[in-house]
Amino acid sequence: MLPEYQFFPVSRPDKGAGGLTGEWRVVRPVVNESKCVSCGACYLWCPEGTILFSPGRKATVDYDYCKGCGVCANQCPVGAISMVKEVS
Ligand code: SF4
Ligand code: SF4
Repeated sequence: MLPEYQFFPVSRPDKGAGGLTGEWRVVRPVVNESKCVSCGACYLWCPEGTILFSPGRKATVDYDYCKGCGVCANQCPVGAISMVKEVS
């Protein structure tokens, strides 16, 4: 018989698993709300769970935890997320 854990998802989204980002991020994702079609792909793919999303609403980003990795921008099917250089 398989152990119970093998029936769990591979991972569970957990906001800020890597902790607060601090000031080292060099680019940040910016959502163009006029392009966003509320598909949720960025929410599903973000490794830090920092995309705030619910069906029918536009995606937003919690910049306290976002690491600027760009996965969300690469996964967005309509190009609604741009990676923008941080300004100090
Ligand atoms: S840049 Fe990376 S950490 Fe930030 S919201 Fe997008 S996928 Fe998540
Ligand atoms: S992946 Fe793009 S279109 Fe889909 S919710 Fe995120 S920003 Fe909006």
